[in-house]
Amino acid sequence: MATECISPTILDSRWKQRFRRRLLAWYAVHERDLPWRRSKNPYRVWVSEAMLQQTQVATVQAYFRRFVKALPNVRKLAAADERDVLRLWEGLGYYRRARQLHAAAQRIVAEHGGQFPRDVETLQTLPGIGRYTAGAIASIAFDQRAPILEANTIRLLSRLVAYRDDPTKSAGQRLLWRTAEEILPRQDIARFNQALMELGSLVCTPNQPKCGECPVASLCAARAAGLQEKIPPAGRKTQFIDITEAAVVVRKRGQVLLRQCPEGQRWAGLWDFPRFEIQSEGPLFVRDELVAKVREQTGIVIDPGPLLKSMKHGVTRYRIRLDCYAGSYRSGRLAPAGGELRWTKPEELDAYPLSATGRRLARLVHGA
Ligand code: SF4
Repeated sequence: MATECISPTILDSRWKQRFRRRLLAWYAVHERDLPWRRSKNPYRVWVSEAMLQQTQVATVQAYFRRFVKALPNVRKLAAADERDVLRLWEGLGYYRRARQLHAAAQRIVAEHGGQFPRDVETLQTLPGIGRYTAGAIASIAFDQRAPILEANTIRLLSRLVAYRDDPTKSAGQRLLWRTAEEILPRQDIARFNQALMELGSLVCTPNQPKCGECPVASLCAARAAGLQEKIPPAGRKTQFIDITEAAVVVRKRGQVLLRQCPEGQRWAGLWDFPRFEIQSEGPLFVRDELVAKVREQTGIVIDPGPLLKSMKHGVTRYRIRLDCYAGSYRSGRLAPAGGELRWTKPEELDAYPLSATGRRLARLVHGA
């Protein structure tokens, strides 16, 4: 594919001035009232940016309010139990973000006296803070002259300069970071960066960008060339893989068995019922496999019970059918094969962070 595009170095000063003026004027009218925009507190900026990675604004709002109400500052977050942090994050997915937030808060307290570093370089030494998040905190909270580049601005800038190759590859990233830096004004950086993201999110949308409503349409190289629908190029279609998993609600004297997902596994840090992939077909074979796999994961022998429910869900490229079974403890001692095991009263399940399907199963178990 051709790579001709406007290099940021030929975005002349007149272009940049007009762009900044029009963008900020548009933002003054169209800025959404979002809970994390009501102050420049770096903690709130940071939490919102972590939540907004891979998650829609509409979903994040309620999570954000709940999180900062329970953990209103970096010291409270640092001192919190990881289980409580993950419980507040439950349902947002990509739980690594929450664990890194927690670890970074502990570093900020231990190494920076609880004060946020103000510069991009130091911010990037913290867990989970890459160039984008560091730029967002430095520019939005501290008005530092730091560029940002995230999903919305990658698309917007690619179109503005008509960059036709894959903007997530290193050549594209280099060009777009340079563009993001070149277009920064001298002051009002916080508003400028937020306005860029807002324009990408509300007007320069992934499909059918609203060029007719765009304040910078006459400055846009993709629009001039009629390429706005072709930039950025569509990624490869995901090849889905179908698998079947089983979860077993093992009961013993009124308690159920939970397992903490170990490091390196999907949902590390979260709790779950014993869960694993199964290959067998037919009730008899499935029973044998349930017994063997629960033993492998927990050390105990169970008597499998009936199928309680089947759920369909997706994780990355896997399309999963999850069959949930009842089970009762027969013999043996707990011997975890990675990840802690714990007998828990059903009414206490609410305190544990679970995956979305784990929570649905917990509600079935506890009837809440
Ligand atoms: Fe995006 Fe269209 Fe505006 Fe160009 S003119 S920035 S493609 S909305």
